Amino acid sequence: MIYPIIAYGNPILKKEAEEINEGEDINELISDMFDTMDNANGVGLAAPQINKGIRLFVIDSALMLDEDSDEKGFRKVFINPIILDEYGDDYSFEEGCLSIPDVRAEITRPETLTIEYFDENWNLKEEEFSGMTARVIQHEYDHLEGILFVDYIKGLKKRLVKSKLIDVSKGKVPTEYSMIYPTR
Ligand SMILES: [Zn+2]
Repeated sequence: MIYPIIAYGNPILKKEAEEINEGEDINELISDMFDTMDNANGVGLAAPQINKGIRLFVIDSALMLDEDSDEKGFRKVFINPIILDEYGDDYSFEEGCLSIPDVRAEITRPETLTIEYFDENWNLKEEEFSGMTARVIQHEYDHLEGILFVDYIKGLKKRLVKSKLIDVSKGKVPTEYSMIYPTR
């Protein structure tokens, strides 16, 4: 099943997501999340973006890599993740978000992270990720904390992006996938 994507301005995107009970059967939801992400050509999707306030996201960072990249991309599920540490050099990269179509901005984040999470079989993992995969994880993890990448934009740039954000929330930005806009 392909879910519509929750657009910027809906309060669920600003709320901290709840932990999922360990062992809960969420296989169908995971598969729906991958379908929804793929349908929208996304590199990541967090549960709040399909109106579910739970700590779950999926990523496909392979889509972000150049053909000649040494880095390996991952198609992965993260359940109840906790970022344990972030380190390495900060670097800037242009991010976008399925919930905020047509808005892109350079965001600065650390290069590497370690994260603890459950995989789709409820096995607890602790892993280190770098580069593009870390970047996608950081962006999706933020969704579980109620943080959007545009929250990091400051000053004049923020003012420039503001009218675009209003257009997004009013449904004035066309998308190839279906979206749910905030009710007014
Ligand atoms: Zn996003």
